[in-house]
Amino acid sequence: MARLSTRITTINGGGDDGWGVFLKARRMIAQGTPVTELTIGEHDIRTDPSILAAMDSAARAGHTGYAMVPGTDRLRDTVAKRVTARTGVPTTRDNVIITPGGQAALFATHHATNDAGDTALMIDPYYATYPGTIRAVGARPGIIPTRSRDAFAPQRAEIDRAVETSRAAGSTPRSLLVNSPNNPTGAIYGADTMQAIARAACDHDLWLISDEVYDTQVWEGDHISPRQLPGMADRVLVIGSMSKSHAMTGSRVGWIVGPEQGIAHLIDLATNTTYGVPGYIQAAADFALNAGQQLEDDIGAPFRRRRAIAQKVLGAQQLVGSIPSQGAMYLMLDIRRTGLSGEAFANRLLDTHHIAVMPGESFGASAAGHIRVAMTVEDTAFERALGTLCEFAASVA
Ligand code: PMP
Repeated sequence: MARLSTRITTINGGGDDGWGVFLKARRMIAQGTPVTELTIGEHDIRTDPSILAAMDSAARAGHTGYAMVPGTDRLRDTVAKRVTARTGVPTTRDNVIITPGGQAALFATHHATNDAGDTALMIDPYYATYPGTIRAVGARPGIIPTRSRDAFAPQRAEIDRAVETSRAAGSTPRSLLVNSPNNPTGAIYGADTMQAIARAACDHDLWLISDEVYDTQVWEGDHISPRQLPGMADRVLVIGSMSKSHAMTGSRVGWIVGPEQGIAHLIDLATNTTYGVPGYIQAAADFALNAGQQLEDDIGAPFRRRRAIAQKVLGAQQLVGSIPSQGAMYLMLDIRRTGLSGEAFANRLLDTHHIAVMPGESFGASAAGHIRVAMTVEDTAFERALGTLCEFAASVA
């Protein structure tokens, strides 16, 4: 084989990425052992039949050829209208590009804002693909640590420190990636935190990349998009997705919202990478976004219910601490009082009770001594698994 680029062979940073427990659970299931899987960020319901019907009729009506690379006018208008309504920021189709899911949008926004060797700042704990996405565009991940006792909200001093560290290493920081509601912590950044992030982005002349794929999964408080803060619209690239809001993970459709000029260049990138999103998928997304609030509420309802179940189960004991979670489909639990690392806890829980959770360490060093629980199994099984988890914690403590 001829030589591959350093850029592609170093996408995975090397070392243990913390997915051992997940893979072990998969092997156990393949061998016939029943495992309660609280690892995956995916609904336990499928895409609504009404959305599939829209997809089917669009395909049959002929929308199976190349679609417009920036997205269909119709879907771009729908996204623009939705963003305007939700944020109050005037948004038109020229501020929107449709992408094959939020992941492609993460790649494109980092590609658009970082040259080779620049630093893309990101907050620890983080969604699993973030560091690899940043390395894939040739940039360096600049890690901003957070603390459990701050509910993993970034502090201004840590942002400044990460900026200084990257400059000292001869790399220019260009972007700051934030994710609220957050995977893996379930935290939603309040107004103070979001304003501090926005000020840091301005002071250090950074693009703010705002991953808002969980923006419909808000169980407590309000979701604030940094794009709606005064003077920020020209500095923020918002990532949206149909995956979580409409249980359309497999359809691969999302978007980027940002300043017109930036979007124009992102269209150039799409022309030379993805070449757009299938027309029938876009038609289904457009149908879903116009289907009304009830559909979105129904899709989020199981997580809202299970969060209440978790509060009840966890509230009945003192050992396992929960990080205040206001949104998304995850709970971050503090298991440091058991004396185990997140990884050891998760491994032993899987071995002895056949319950799979993610070690906090797989989302970055800041989440060491924690585990992430995805609220993605049916209510009764979820309640039982959480109860067992707490008993297990008590037995090892
Ligand atoms: N961002 C976050 C925080 C996520 O959790 C995910 C998916 N789990 C994505 C982006 C990407 O989602 P998709 O590509 O399906 O839109």
